[in-house]
Amino acid sequence: MSIAPQFDLAVVGSGVIGLAHERGMRVVVLERTDRPVGASIRNFGHVGITTQDGKGLDYAIAGRAHWLRLAAQAGFWIREAGTLIVARAEDEWTLLHRFAELRDGSVDLLSPDQARELASIADPRLVGAAFCGNDLRVNSPEAIPALARYLATEGVEFRYRTNVTGVEAGVVHTSRGSVSADKIVIATGHDLDLLFPEITEEAGFKRCLLHMLETDAPAGSQFSPVVLTGTAVLRYDGLSHHAEATSIRERMARDRPELADAFVNVKMSQRPNGRLVLGDTHAYAHTHSPFKEEALDDLLLREFTQLLGVPLTVRRRWHGEYAWAATEPFFVREPAADVFIACVMNGTGMSTGMGFAESVLNRM
Ligand SMILES: Cc1cc2nc3c(=O)[nH]c(=O)nc-3n(C[C@H](O)[C@H](O)[C@H](O)COP(=O)(O)OP(=O)(O)OC[C@H]3O[C@@H](n4cnc5c(N)ncnc54)[C@H](O)[C@@H]3O)c2cc1C
Repeated sequence: MSIAPQFDLAVVGSGVIGLAHERGMRVVVLERTDRPVGASIRNFGHVGITTQDGKGLDYAIAGRAHWLRLAAQAGFWIREAGTLIVARAEDEWTLLHRFAELRDGSVDLLSPDQARELASIADPRLVGAAFCGNDLRVNSPEAIPALARYLATEGVEFRYRTNVTGVEAGVVHTSRGSVSADKIVIATGHDLDLLFPEITEEAGFKRCLLHMLETDAPAGSQFSPVVLTGTAVLRYDGLSHHAEATSIRERMARDRPELADAFVNVKMSQRPNGRLVLGDTHAYAHTHSPFKEEALDDLLLREFTQLLGVPLTVRRRWHGEYAWAATEPFFVREPAADVFIACVMNGTGMSTGMGFAESVLNRM
């Protein structure tokens, strides 16, 4: 006589990708820490839809509705605040015109004065900005735990301090015994290689390490949208694939090699308490040095002093890591029957993860 599995679905990992696999079933979430502390709470809280492209854009558009619904149900802070991409050079402004043309109605081009009404940009080089009104902003350290708490009230069982050590069809092996489930989702983010070394090796998997800072906002300033700058054109597929991005890339490599070397993306968002979340640098390796380079934080602070016109007081500093693979941003594998690996490999999981998870659920 066969014994019925304990759960319909077992999810490994309580980051945004694991939590997004919510569906009306008997679900257990297995998480090795005692609360979510991974990439999903260390980011800008930027649900950046408009700068995605291809599949990422489809997932982000689909995910928007899930974020708004879940924020209402779980009661966490969310704002339809949009994204402001500021141009401080003529080639950046030309690219933003092209971007607005292609995004057909979802991007508004703003004069410097209009841009300053949304965000207190002091840099005198400001020539204009693109406003992406569909984008959202959440406060990740609040939103992700609130989402987990809400799902628990809806009947999802959470087993914290439970390290998953192996997975096979129908069974998850953990540091606290085995759990049986019809279907299993592995959403362990940048530690995926610890469970599936061969699969991740084949994909060219690495960990991307980012420096992040939290500072006080300048007195009297206001920042409703998430703010991106010219460096965004090097990072987001919706911007970086255009011919106009090439000259910006070349100019930055020539004139600002220190930014290019550290893969800096000058980006900021404001927390509900007014503080600014500033970032970020990018470094790619299998294992990173544990020692934070102060020079990288200094570089970020110089960039923001220029952008905001005043020196900033740092309140918190941290590292974040996310899973990365050059060739496959939306990584799905089925290593055993009804066992699904689901990993966003390009650092856009807050934006695309909800829609991506829906597509994984639909494959089951
Ligand atoms: C600094 C930073 C800034 C970012 N900014 C943005 C942004 O503005 N917008 C955006 O869209 N994206 C952003 N991202 C990317 C986004 O945060 C990630 O893509 C997303 O959070 C990944 O979610 P995840 O659930 O896969 O990983 P995680 O949030 O890291 O969750 C994985 C979970 O799995 C658990 N786990 C791992 N192994 C095991 C195991 N063996 N057993 C049990 N549990 C396990 C971990 O403890 C962890 O809780 C940023 C990322 C970083 C680091």
